[in-house]
Amino acid sequence: MNLKELSNEELKKLVLNKKVEVKDIVDSGICPTCFDRENDHVLYGDTKDKMIYEDDYFECFLVGNPRAEGHTAISTKKHFKDMTEIDNETCTKIYLLAKKLMIILKETYKSESVYLCTMCDGPMNHFHVQLIPRYSFENRGSKNFVKPRSEYKEDKEKLEELRRKMSLGE
Ligand SMILES: [Zn+2]
Repeated sequence: MNLKELSNEELKKLVLNKKVEVKDIVDSGICPTCFDRENDHVLYGDTKDKMIYEDDYFECFLVGNPRAEGHTAISTKKHFKDMTEIDNETCTKIYLLAKKLMIILKETYKSESVYLCTMCDGPMNHFHVQLIPRYSFENRGSKNFVKPRSEYKEDKEKLEELRRKMSLGE
């Protein structure tokens, strides 16, 4: 089935009935993030309760199925397929934002380090970077990028701290 031939409502129904997953949407050439935003977050779930920072260009939020406590994503509001498509201004802005958030994550979660990756792949995707804390009880190295995912547990205090620190100047 070519998902691109379906109407938005038909596709939304398939997602709601769990007949279609993120992977199927990516494979069909539809941007999963833009689809999610235009359809009440049916694909990834609402991120409002996990949002740390938002401006005209970006949103930073705690990931719903984190690989570590404090696992965060920074996503552009505008659609870009991957990092090769972004303009230099967006590139500069997102890395400055990632730096700021990385420092704040280290402070807030007392992690030893924070790893950064971007790996938007497949026929269609939506540019974002991921920040994954690495804790003192964990070994250093690339295995930290593929730590098992777990269910997000809200820590109100840390969330408020992140929001407060991100709202401050440079
Ligand atoms: Zn998109």
